[in-house]
Amino acid sequence: MEIQTVKDAKLIDNCNRHLNYLRISITDRCNLQCRYCVPHDLIPKLSHGEILTYEEILRVVRIATRLGISKVRVTGGEPLVRKGVYDFLKALVATEGLKDVSLTTNGVLLKDNLLKIQSAGIARINVSLDTLNRKKYREITGYDDFDRVWQGIEKAHDMGFYPIKLNIVALKGVNDDEFVEMAQLSFRYPFHVRFIEYMPIGQSDFSAGSLLLAPEIKDRIRAIGNLVPVQGVQHDGPAQRYKFEDAKGEVGFIPALSQHFCNKCNRLRLTASGHLRPCLLADHQEDLKDLLRKGCSDQELANIFFMAIRHKPSDHNLASQNPTRVCSQMRAIGG
Ligand code: SAM
Repeated sequence: MEIQTVKDAKLIDNCNRHLNYLRISITDRCNLQCRYCVPHDLIPKLSHGEILTYEEILRVVRIATRLGISKVRVTGGEPLVRKGVYDFLKALVATEGLKDVSLTTNGVLLKDNLLKIQSAGIARINVSLDTLNRKKYREITGYDDFDRVWQGIEKAHDMGFYPIKLNIVALKGVNDDEFVEMAQLSFRYPFHVRFIEYMPIGQSDFSAGSLLLAPEIKDRIRAIGNLVPVQGVQHDGPAQRYKFEDAKGEVGFIPALSQHFCNKCNRLRLTASGHLRPCLLADHQEDLKDLLRKGCSDQELANIFFMAIRHKPSDHNLASQNPTRVCSQMRAIGG
């Protein structure tokens, strides 16, 4: 097959942000129905033909690496519900130019598939877990899967996955009574326990009144020890990283609203429907799928990346008095 050349240009936007991180949502389907993410099953799901095939995603990734993308995270919906995902992960990891491939999952299907994930070459996983209480888990997600998820996390730890990041969306009146217990996990395990500020987007059962911002979460967990900042490394995400003295793991905060990190944002998102989205919190997106299916050249696809980054806002205003309404659902974008 003839390899077409893409001009050796890198993805640097008008704010001089170097975009080297692509988050890929491989499906909009999920086996949970979290109240803050997809509260009602009213939003129509994409049909099989509407989502990008694995071959199409891999082609997009190959082009993206030539434009400077070196880090990829696979997300969803729930990525592990899509058929063929383990072979896809293997092919993705083997893509030349990618230095870091990781996976975000709700963990429901983790336990029985860890070997396949590991064999595909993935060592870093993020598991979303908003509570340590089985009953509350069912209230938040609609399913009684807490035990399965926790067993998956422990098994992943035993199998040597590292780091295992536990993502907790902080919700006032829902899980704020558990922050200390969750932070304490970092003493028992080398987990990175990460508190994420709730982003009021799409349809959700929660309003902005459910917001609990990182400074307040930090104050609450300081009760159990001294939080020492951890130096970030290249490819680190936007998390503010800390460690309790003598802890095995870390505690982090993703202050998407209280201290938004837009000036350092290095991300683009590929949605399951084949759209390239320059910002999670703005609805603008460019259609890649249409071009892909019309038999476009690599250069034409690369041009879409450059078009998308022209629309990457300098910052979002979700925390302001008059926030712009973001209509897209997290499930469709991938978080
Ligand atoms: N199903 C996978 C999972 O649960 O990790 C991947 C997709 S999920 C949309 C990705 C992340 O987005 C999860 O950690 C989830 O908690 C987070 N998320 C969803 N809705 C959110 C919201 N409104 N604010 C903050 N985080 C949200």
